[in-house]
Amino acid sequence: MRRKLVVGNWKMHGTLASNAELLGGVRAAEPFVCEAAVCVPFPYLASCVLALQGSHIGLGAQDCSAHEQGAYTGEVSATMLHDVGCRYVIVGHSERRAYHGESDQLVADKAKIVVNKGMIPIVCVGETLAEREAGQTDAVVKRQLSAVIHTLGHCVPQIVVAYEPVWAIGTGKTASPEQAQEVHALLRAQLQAATSHADSMKILYGGSVKPDNAATLFAQPDIDGGLIGGASLKAADFIAICRAAL
Ligand code: PEP
Repeated sequence: MRRKLVVGNWKMHGTLASNAELLGGVRAAEPFVCEAAVCVPFPYLASCVLALQGSHIGLGAQDCSAHEQGAYTGEVSATMLHDVGCRYVIVGHSERRAYHGESDQLVADKAKIVVNKGMIPIVCVGETLAEREAGQTDAVVKRQLSAVIHTLGHCVPQIVVAYEPVWAIGTGKTASPEQAQEVHALLRAQLQAATSHADSMKILYGGSVKPDNAATLFAQPDIDGGLIGGASLKAADFIAICRAAL
C-alpha cells in the first residue's frame, strides 16, 4: 500500500506575511491521512522551516543546481537546501524545461545530486499539447524518465515522479482520470523494468488539480497523490485536496 503524497508548488508567489497565514491555516487542519509538503521560493525556505516546526508537513524547494558548489552566481546547491531543512526538491518542472532550456540530462543530473545529498527529488515529466495531439505522449514521458533512470541507477527507487501534462498546468484543463491513469501505468511499467521497488514508488499527478477533481484523480490505481500549483496557495483548497488523498 503506497501512502499518498500531496505537494504544493507555490511557484513565484507569496510574501513573509501571506506565507505565515497560509501555513498557519494548513497546519490547523493537521493531521492528514496523506503525506504533505510545500515547495516554496528559495528566500522563504528559512522562515517556512520555522513555521513548520513540530508539523509533519515537509518542506521542499522548486529547483536546485546540478553543481556541487562553486562559481555559479545565482544558483542554489542541493547541499544548501539540505542544510536549511528541505526534504524534497522539484526538478524538471515544465516551466524550467520551457523557460530555462533544461534538458532531460540536466534534469537527471539534478535528480542525482538531490538524492546524493539525502533528499527526495520530485521529477516532473509531461507532454505539451502539440506532442499529445501528435500522438507522442508516451514517447515523450518515456524519454524524460529514461534519462533519470539511466543516471540514477540503483538510486531510482529514491525518487518521486510527477506526471504533469504541460497543457494542464495552470490552464484549468485537467487530464481526465483515465488519461492520467494511462500515463501513470506506463511510467510505472517503465520503473518496473528498472527496479524491483517500482510498486512502492510514488507517481504524482499535476495539472489543475482542485478540490472538486482531486478525489477521482487520486482514486486511480497508479496515482499516488498530486503536485498542486494554483490550488496550493489557498489554505482551504490545499487542505481539501490533502483530505481527498486517502
Ligand atoms: C504545477 O505547477 O506543478 C501545477 C500543477 O500547477 P497547477 O496546479 O496550477 O496547474
